[in-house]
Amino acid sequence: MTGPRDYNAIAARIRALPSSRCTVDLAATVRGHPLYVLRSPPSPSRGPRLALSAGTHGDEPAGVEAVVRLLETGDSTLAGFDWVAFPCLNPAGYAEGTRENGAGVDINRSFENEEVAEALAVKRVLRGAAFDVFIECHEDWEASAFYMFECGDAAGALGGRVMAEVARECPVSHASDIDGMRAVDGVIQVDEEFAEYGHRSLALYMWRFHAKRVLTCEAPGSLPFEQCVTAHMAAIRSALANAGL
Ligand SMILES: [Zn+2]
Repeated sequence: MTGPRDYNAIAARIRALPSSRCTVDLAATVRGHPLYVLRSPPSPSRGPRLALSAGTHGDEPAGVEAVVRLLETGDSTLAGFDWVAFPCLNPAGYAEGTRENGAGVDINRSFENEEVAEALAVKRVLRGAAFDVFIECHEDWEASAFYMFECGDAAGALGGRVMAEVARECPVSHASDIDGMRAVDGVIQVDEEFAEYGHRSLALYMWRFHAKRVLTCEAPGSLPFEQCVTAHMAAIRSALANAGL
């Protein structure tokens, strides 16, 4: 598990991103922390639209680092795409090193109620928007190999391609059963068995209202932090490269 982290440092890095790469807006202020939303610069291209988020759980910092670093380094992956990103959806949890937000609530179970500030900020920012792909970065602290959940048509196609790229950076799961769910080469296909979850989670909320395809990436938190960061970066790059297929 991770401990408290310096959210002010992440926020400063976000504010320092060059305007040629993205616009930075305040989506909300939670417990005194800025919750930022980033958007691609206006682009004449009409490529696939992407939504991206990390840090929904405050004790999963590798995805936050991956998103910020992709933008800091000027990685060409995001250039030319039309995208919206929440680089750290749970600033208070990040600062305190907790899965939940500052009020002790799991944001990722809060999209069916109207009282959780971070979930409300997402809903407000994305109102009316449609995306080809939504990808989110998580970490599973008990896992020793990368896996993901996939929602969407063309079942398995995008997830399988993304996992092939992730495998260059990090071990990927080949278990046929992950936490009691059927998996193929590290991809758990979200189907009718998940209906009982409604749209409480961000992934299911996005799939229901905003995105044709959703990938929820679970990096193996038991492996070194840097390896989880590069694995998430590979997943984001690959999801984008294949988003239009
Ligand atoms: Zn998580």
